[in-house]
Amino acid sequence: MYIVIEGQDGTGKSTQAELLKKLFEAKGKEVVMLEEPDGDLPQSHDLHDMILTRGYDLEPLTNVLLFTAARVELWKKIAEPVLKRGGVVISARNYWSTLAYQGYGEGVSKSKIIRITKEALPERYTHPDYGFILTVSDEVRLERQRGRGKATETFEKKPSEFQQRVNAAYPKIAKDFGLMMIDAAPSIEEVFSEIKSKLND
Ligand code: ADP
Ligand code: MG
Repeated sequence: MYIVIEGQDGTGKSTQAELLKKLFEAKGKEVVMLEEPDGDLPQSHDLHDMILTRGYDLEPLTNVLLFTAARVELWKKIAEPVLKRGGVVISARNYWSTLAYQGYGEGVSKSKIIRITKEALPERYTHPDYGFILTVSDEVRLERQRGRGKATETFEKKPSEFQQRVNAAYPKIAKDFGLMMIDAAPSIEEVFSEIKSKLND
């Protein structure tokens, strides 16, 4: 099973992904959790840092290509083998993040992002079994981000106009790609119950 949790920074993706991981592990499944573009591979850490923490002023298209490269590495080396063994892959983010941040946020053509992704990755990657988008008000989101520490990543540090464009993108992406919008404002346990209620056992 392949589950994706999308949403802006601070919405609670990692928190919910961890809970899902524990849920499936308790059922005796092999589970791997990814945090695109990062995952448990040294090249993933390097790609993550190159895109998000070095402060390079990368072209938006370069961001698309580097995120896609990171996805190819994670898919081929981690996700695909686990799925083939009947395990569960839980990913915080997917290429919908690139549509939101590089497409709606940075102005790269959305159809180009979709074409590049589909050239690079299989249908299974673009069609997870479950796709959730967590949403909360900007106020709550920023408070959660602050609670976690100082903003250190490139897209976290971008101005509020950029964040607004990304925020507004997610409902459109949900509609275009049939993803489930989850109100992430309630407590961690309540949000998790909501997500669990959408899984067919
Ligand atoms: P993301 O991975 O989407 O950036 P995190 O899972 O890291 O978000 O959550 C950001 C912060 O908010 C963390 O400190 C986390 O403990 C907290 N948090 C997550 N979900 C909730 C929630 N439903 N209610 C209150 N705090 C939350
Ligand atoms: Mg996270």
